[in-house]
This record gives sequence, C-alpha cells and structure tokens, in this order.
Amino acid sequence: FLLAYEPAKRLARLQIELNAGLVGVRQLFDIIDAPSTEAADVDKPKLVMDKGRVEFKDVRFGYRENEPVLRGLSLVAQAGQMTALVGPSGGGKSTILNLILRLYEPQSGSITIDGQTITAVSRHSLRQQIAYVGQDVFLFHGTIRDNIGFGKEGATEDEIIAAAKAANAHDFIMSFPHGYDTHTGEQGLQLSGGQRQRIAVARALIKDAKLILLDEATAALDSESERLVQDAIAHLTQDRTTIVIAHRLHTVAHADRIFVIEEGVVAEDGRHEELLRKGGRYASFYRLQLQNQDEPELVAATA
Ligand code: ADP
Ligand code: MG
Repeated sequence: FLLAYEPAKRLARLQIELNAGLVGVRQLFDIIDAPSTEAADVDKPKLVMDKGRVEFKDVRFGYRENEPVLRGLSLVAQAGQMTALVGPSGGGKSTILNLILRLYEPQSGSITIDGQTITAVSRHSLRQQIAYVGQDVFLFHGTIRDNIGFGKEGATEDEIIAAAKAANAHDFIMSFPHGYDTHTGEQGLQLSGGQRQRIAVARALIKDAKLILLDEATAALDSESERLVQDAIAHLTQDRTTIVIAHRLHTVAHADRIFVIEEGVVAEDGRHEELLRKGGRYASFYRLQLQNQDEPELVAATA
C-alpha cells in the first residue's frame, strides 16, 4: 500500500503543512486525487449520508512504516451529537480527521459513516458531504462572495448572504467599500483571524453538510472576535454531527461525548462531569488548565 499512495501522501502532507487548515478544499483535493488513484475510485458508489454517524473500529495507521500513530483506535461519533477529541499534542487527533476525509487510508481496521466503509465509496462523494473548518483558514484569491460560494456549486446571492449572516460575517463584509466584491487572498484585503474563520463557517454553512469536522483554533482571538466565532460555530453545528478537536474548555464542557486521545488510542471517554468525577487523565488536564487561567488552551498545558 505504501508505494501506491506515497506520492499523493507526500503532496497531501506538503499542502497540509502549507495551509494547515483546509476548508472544503476542492483545489487541494484535485491535486491529491491524482488520476492513478482516482480512476479506481470514481467507479465506487456514492456515500449515502444519513445523519453522519462515524465509527472507527480498531483502526491502525502510521504516516511511515514502523511508526504507528493510531494503534487500534475505536470510537463512535453519534449522529447529531458533538463529539470532542482532546489530549496531548501528537496523540493523533488531527490524524483522525485526516482519515475521515480520506487524505490517508488506514492500514487496518475500518471507518464507517452511516454504516458504509469510507474506502468503499467515492472520495468525491465523501468530501462533498463533509464540511471541514480548520485552524488556519484557507482563502483563495478571489472575492469574498467567491470564497463563501465555493462551499456549494451554483450558490445564489441570497444563499451567500444568508450564510454570511448566520456566520456573523455579513456586517464586517458590508463595512468594506466593495462589500462582497472585496478581494481576499494574497494580494487582497488582509482579514483578521476571526474574520477569516467566520468566512470559513459561512462556506461550511452553505455546504449544508450533515457531518462537520472542526479543528478549533488554538491561537487566542480577542474576546469579542472569539465570541462572534463561537456564535457562528454554534449555528453551524446545530443539529449536525460534529467532531471537534477541542482546545477550549467551553467547547469540551458542552460536548455530548469527550474522547481523550493519547498515543493513538482512546485513553478515556465520557461527558465532562463524568470524567471530572473519575479523576483520571481528563481531570488532570482540567486541573492544569485551572492553574493556568491565563492559558486558554485545555491541552497545551500538558504538551
Ligand atoms: P494531534 O493532532 O493530536 O496533535 P497528530 O494527528 O497531528 O496529533 O499527529 C500524530 C503523530 O503523527 C505525530 O507524531 C505527528 O508528528 C505525526 N504526523 C502528523 N501528520 C503527519 C504527516 N503528514 N506526516 C508524517 N507524520 C505526521
Ligand atoms: Mg492536531
């Protein structure tokens, strides 16, 4: 397996390192889905997404041979719920999201969405039905309208504006002289981190995917901006299956289920209060964070 996927994987990794968070990255996926691997894939049936229940069964995976990252990981993200992944840096959280998007494939074990093994359905149909919002938002060179509309082919002006409003982005967009025609990206207007994230949420909203993958920002936004982003994300995740790599206590405390990922397996899982009572790994993360009140991250304290 290693040989066949090596070039695509290397490219994927390069791209991921370049723009560490990718949102509905059609361009990127076009690069990764090199004809050789894609040819066999297009014949596969489409993923039929119901409510987006995700299950990992005994998944083993490493980016390189003899360097296991996931070591027999099993977990379920229940449909319509918010599932939080927490744990020390390097434990495998981002890898879990990479595998759901099929940027890489497990070496053994299975990953299913609504009962369908994801390697048995076409990548395209899989990615079409998942919205990913990462830490560093990728805006391409184009207008704000294009960047939001990118979430859905043929999106109308009304849909774009509705998504921007729900994502708390409409007001700041309208404050620019060119509004939705404002150019972003390298030569365009520099948007703040919070503004970029709200554009990303608008893009994910317009996509209307049942399954949301979220890699919460670790960088501290100012508190007003953070509130607006959190509010936008709350809109996005409502009534959808969400898997979030959580750094903020607020998110974790409200998750339906928390998985503590350590060295590629689930070290603990449960709800916030349950895990606190248990007095294990999660409880010690939490205590550490309380001791470092000015440190907004749940996990960095242990990294
Ligand atoms: P987390 O998100 O929990 O911090 P990751 O899933 O990013 O952990 O990383 C798990 C392990 O896999 C780490 O040892 C990391 O160095 C390694 N890793 C992550 N991405 C890649 C990659 N693209 N290529 C090679 N190794 C990687
Ligand atoms: Mg990570």
